[in-house]
Amino acid sequence: MSKAPIQIEAQVYYNYVAGEWVRSESGKTYHTINPANKKQILGYFQESTREDAKRAIEAAHNAFLFWKDTPAPVRGEILFKAWTVMKERSEELARTMTLEEGKPLADARGEVKRSLNVLEFMAGEGRRLKGETVPSELKNNFAYTIKKPLGVIAVITPWNFPLAIAIWKISPALITGNTVVFKPASSTPLTAISLIKLFIDAGLPKAVLNMVTGPGETVGMELVENRLVEAISVTGHTETGALIYEKAARMMKKVQCEMGGKNAVVILEDADIDLAIEGIMQGAFGSTGQRCTSTSRIIVEEKVKDIFIKRLLERTKRLKITDGFTEGVDVSPLASESQFNKVMSYIETGQKEGATLLFGGKKPSGKEYEDGYYVEPTIFTDVKPDMRIAHEEIFGPVLPILTAKDFEEAIQIANSVRYGLSASIYTSDINKAFKFTDVIEVGMIHINSPTLGGEAQLPFGGIKASGLGIREQGSKAIEFFTDEIVVYVDYTGKRREARFI
Ligand code: NDP
Repeated sequence: MSKAPIQIEAQVYYNYVAGEWVRSESGKTYHTINPANKKQILGYFQESTREDAKRAIEAAHNAFLFWKDTPAPVRGEILFKAWTVMKERSEELARTMTLEEGKPLADARGEVKRSLNVLEFMAGEGRRLKGETVPSELKNNFAYTIKKPLGVIAVITPWNFPLAIAIWKISPALITGNTVVFKPASSTPLTAISLIKLFIDAGLPKAVLNMVTGPGETVGMELVENRLVEAISVTGHTETGALIYEKAARMMKKVQCEMGGKNAVVILEDADIDLAIEGIMQGAFGSTGQRCTSTSRIIVEEKVKDIFIKRLLERTKRLKITDGFTEGVDVSPLASESQFNKVMSYIETGQKEGATLLFGGKKPSGKEYEDGYYVEPTIFTDVKPDMRIAHEEIFGPVLPILTAKDFEEAIQIANSVRYGLSASIYTSDINKAFKFTDVIEVGMIHINSPTLGGEAQLPFGGIKASGLGIREQGSKAIEFFTDEIVVYVDYTGKRREARFI
């Protein structure tokens, strides 16, 4: 039996600007729904305008000098306090995400854990914001570098990790002394509001972090185009990233874009097939295939194709489709109607292109599924690299299977897409595993494990059409949110010989 153990009263929520909860000047709101039950309205949120975004940017701009001058270890203490508050509210945050985005509760709990790890790491960076001391060419001269914050940062996030992605952008921006205007995805504002509340309760000074809900095309675009915004960190579709990059480049702003993926799992003839299948269940169907690192194509060596497909099918048939709160859920609903329509249209495209629909492909039947955006886990075989389902991002529980005659052809197929986020290989041949790391064109490589995951202390992101700019997370994030300034100190007290550069 499916049940939603979190009941919320749909109320009106506001923007958070200069330390106050405020209405949009539009006077309009929009509502969001529970994707497992579209009859349940979750809340009414401000349908903000460019004018609202401008006010938030001005507030962040006014707070910048004060926050920049707050010692980094003191900023770190506030982030540690935010960590404590988040830890206390872990379960509430996880339930809010399952309600709003539809993901299984276990995945939502995992997302909170990941956010805690990032917050902990970034809080500690407050005591490690170091530059370099480097020997000077000249006698009695001292050269060193210092890291300075950039100013107002625009943080624009997607709906699929409504907490973790916001945290992994906001926390490095704040620890380095920047102020932030945060625009969450329009379909997950409730989680964003919970995030703002935890920073308020951690004692973050007013106006250092501001939040405005509303459409990307207006609120988001104002954040990109406003002259007071120095840098933009965005995660979303490749088309969104490319548009923002183009606009920002004309204004010479710093940009970090994390974008789409088409993440391959390569299965060689010597692979542990059962291990690979368990990894694929998590990678392709976990979180309903809506992770940026989800497994979205399989490339299997010809010799083991039949046995692999047989066992994959048996295992997929056992997956439990239900809402994210129900015990034992494997596949929960897609996050929205637009996601549902997009995934169904790709399933139709795959069939029209001549791929064989081996399993799934429909909305499951039954009363339990009527009001939710459910799609069966879906497997396509006989897929060719030039089919759209083989190289476009579907972002749902749809798994195309391609075949390669050998390792070299598998790599050639894997690298033939425009994306380069993550990839994995299953093999017991250590030489091929290492060779894979040399030739595969992605930002994150996994050996004998799913395409998923990342750790707070390591960089996260892709290459090719999956990532632009300096990577997120780990120490790399600090590089994006700071300028590194060189200081030369001459303590000779004498006129120096001429230098020409
Ligand atoms: P979108 O590109 O639709 O939206 C992302 C964010 O950008 C939202 O806040 C959106 O606002 C905003 N936005 C949209 N258009 C503009 C615009 N013209 N100017 C400024 N902001 C804009 O992506 P989704 O939210 O649908 O997220 C899914 C995508 O994110 C997938 O492609 C996925 O692969 C990718 N992703 C990548 C990750 C990575 O690390 N590489 C991690 C997670 C997801 P609004 O919601 O109001 O439209």
